[in-house]
Amino acid sequence: MYAGPGVKTSPDFAIPDTMKAWVLGNPGELKRAEKPVPIPKRAEVLVRIDAVAICATDLEIIDHGPPALIQGGMPFNRNFTPGHEYMGTVVALGPGVDEYRIGQRITVEIHAGCGQCKRCREGMYTSCHNYGLNYGDVDKGHRANGFTTDGGFCEYQVNNINTLVAIPDTMSDEEATLVVTAGTAMYGLTELGGLVAGESVVVTGPGPIGLLGVAVAKALGAQPVILTGTRDNRLKIGRALGADHVVNVRSENAVQAVRRLNAGKGVDYVLECSGAPNAVNEAARMVNRGGKICLAAFPHQETPVDVAHIVRNNIYLYGIRGEGKSATHRAEAFMSQKRFDATKIHTHTFPLDDLPTAIRYAKDRVDDAIKVVVKARGVAAHRVAAE
Ligand SMILES: [Zn+2]
Ligand SMILES: [Zn+2]
Repeated sequence: MYAGPGVKTSPDFAIPDTMKAWVLGNPGELKRAEKPVPIPKRAEVLVRIDAVAICATDLEIIDHGPPALIQGGMPFNRNFTPGHEYMGTVVALGPGVDEYRIGQRITVEIHAGCGQCKRCREGMYTSCHNYGLNYGDVDKGHRANGFTTDGGFCEYQVNNINTLVAIPDTMSDEEATLVVTAGTAMYGLTELGGLVAGESVVVTGPGPIGLLGVAVAKALGAQPVILTGTRDNRLKIGRALGADHVVNVRSENAVQAVRRLNAGKGVDYVLECSGAPNAVNEAARMVNRGGKICLAAFPHQETPVDVAHIVRNNIYLYGIRGEGKSATHRAEAFMSQKRFDATKIHTHTFPLDDLPTAIRYAKDRVDDAIKVVVKARGVAAHRVAAE
């Protein structure tokens, strides 16, 4: 019977001893496994995972390894379960937990920093200096589920209470998986960038973070909000999420278009989500003097950057990882107030058993897939049988 020292459960939510999980074998290989249901410790709860979205970073981890770091090394063949953008229901409480109740619906953010390093003490726990140190005699208590500890491509997971965000019953499971993506855009624009209403924003690259970056910027009162990209169908979604202008960079020079659309001037912020080889140089020519460039995409190759232009124009350049300073809570507030409809980027749902198909849809953008969600319950497996 499922139990642990000081752990509270409820007869309303029967918890099995073992669960279905996917684990990473060799690069690119996901295997089915049966794992024990984990037991929450102090300041942790057990979450029954009701939905999990696939992120480009999951695809990166599954094929190449980083930024996952398991026991100080690559995540392959270590019985590691990836997946980090999940939501669910609290079904057991660790000792002393009274901040959440059994049966409460929540979504999660990823990083529970060590709580003791310089960055964690500043609230920048996604930049924890003890990243991945959670084992053996280097156990600093850091957890980033799906990166340095087991994640969400399974039925249950333990989460630190600091990573939980309560959601209203009016928010669907699928929408709740998108809170963390909106939270990443929020973190880049407000907590790190300092955006206030009336400032101008360009978002380059209409992937999930870019599209929700448009939505968050607009909800924050930015004007104008300009989205650049190469696919008209994605740009159209950007319009629906609040972009004042969209630019297809296949038919128009992006830098010239931005200046034309912003009264001949550069903008205050560029949120770079394309990872394109020349993206930093283009962004540096889209911003005005003293403007800020937030880098939110990982390009695969090193690229030359015109540093002199950045220096002469007092341009701020910063990378972001994740969603520190509780930006996820602010993103959830916008979403529960219906300030934008994040579900416009959710395109497909598959059962957990069909995770490899779901990953193929996300990776190859089959059927114009943007955000693909996987659910352990309530999705018919035969839906994709004809593929
Ligand atoms: Zn992600
Ligand atoms: Zn830390």
